[in-house]
Amino acid sequence: MSSAQDFYAHLTQELQAIRAAGLYKSERIISGPQSALVRLADGREVLNLCANNYLGLSSHPAVIEAAHEALRTHGYGLSSVRFICGTQDLHKTLEQRLSRFLGTEDTILYAAAFDANGGLFEPLLGEQDAVISDELNHASIIDGIRLCKASRYRYKHNDMADLVRCLEEAKAAGARFTLVFTDGVFSMDGTIAKLDEIRAITDRYGALLGIDECHASGFLGKTGRGTHEYRNVFGQIDLITGTLGKALGGASGGFTSGRREVIEMLRQRSRPYLFSNTVAPSIVGASIAVLDLLESSTALRDKLEANTAYFRAAIQAAGFEIKPGTHPIVPIMVYDAALAQQLSARLLELGVYAVGFFFPVVPKGQARIRVQISAGHERIHLEKAVAAFTQAGLELGLIKG
Ligand SMILES: *Cc1c(COP(=O)(O)O)cnc(C)c1O
Repeated sequence: MSSAQDFYAHLTQELQAIRAAGLYKSERIISGPQSALVRLADGREVLNLCANNYLGLSSHPAVIEAAHEALRTHGYGLSSVRFICGTQDLHKTLEQRLSRFLGTEDTILYAAAFDANGGLFEPLLGEQDAVISDELNHASIIDGIRLCKASRYRYKHNDMADLVRCLEEAKAAGARFTLVFTDGVFSMDGTIAKLDEIRAITDRYGALLGIDECHASGFLGKTGRGTHEYRNVFGQIDLITGTLGKALGGASGGFTSGRREVIEMLRQRSRPYLFSNTVAPSIVGASIAVLDLLESSTALRDKLEANTAYFRAAIQAAGFEIKPGTHPIVPIMVYDAALAQQLSARLLELGVYAVGFFFPVVPKGQARIRVQISAGHERIHLEKAVAAFTQAGLELGLIKG
């Protein structure tokens, strides 16, 4: 048997291998609030193009004030899971408000969307059942599916013919219930699931349909309800998971929303809900204020849409290749991992913070800078971003003058 010393030496070696492969992820220190401009540890202020702060709510005065107010009226923490003594009036209100916003019957809160997905499948599906998943689904969906006993099928990304193949296979295998689950929006490419087609197909088979709305809730669709609104199937989705940690304020927390009996079963059986602490009152109070904002006006999602259209057009006019689409996730294709890192480093020198993504986060040879546009950006920020990309792109030979 190897010793504990050997174990630590083994880890050190593995870490060296990660570094040597150029795959080591380091964390940049930010010394102020999340915003269009962020202050780095060295005191420099840079334009931030890589937050999930789609609506600019991470530091919105009304959201901060609502968090303060909930802290005053409902305390700092509850030191309890929901079913013992961790449910306040605020938690019930937020669950009702999310249900109304998403067009569902009921909603259950989790500490994170990772937990919502992790605790979704196992309580609902058994070994007689089938779950069919898009191959590019988020890690938390993959993990959640691993924890349940249903038969698993995977279809090629956004490929409807392959989805039908999976449904046929599940049917032939005699599955009792079948659930198709997909990201509403895929975070690496900004592609939007074809929910209208998927709903029509799943209906033909009597299958359930679930979606993860982490990159959609709050801004996709004309009133920001999400991918189901964008694809004109609002009110027709069986299961919706999402996060409070991206567009909806950006703190933390997640949820699952759907039919009353589904949510009731999750409250009884979902392990991350039963065995993990309740969401802090300040986050819950602030999230209610976020829904107040979004239900009273579409100004923020409208501004995000306009900012996105402007940036997508301008960066292409500058000569860059992007993944086509309409989502505020804008992948600027570089293909080569080292070049993506050089571009990101040069952009930072020019005052623009945008991170390079490469294998294993995206397929080999598909390296890119993933930009995320925000309603917190002003036109002048986006112009500055395009100018910096243009300068760095010319220097690195990525575009021609
Ligand atoms: C960010 C993300 C999650 C995890 O959300 P958290 O609330 O941060 O745990 C889950 N699914 C998708 C698609 C995401 O993008």
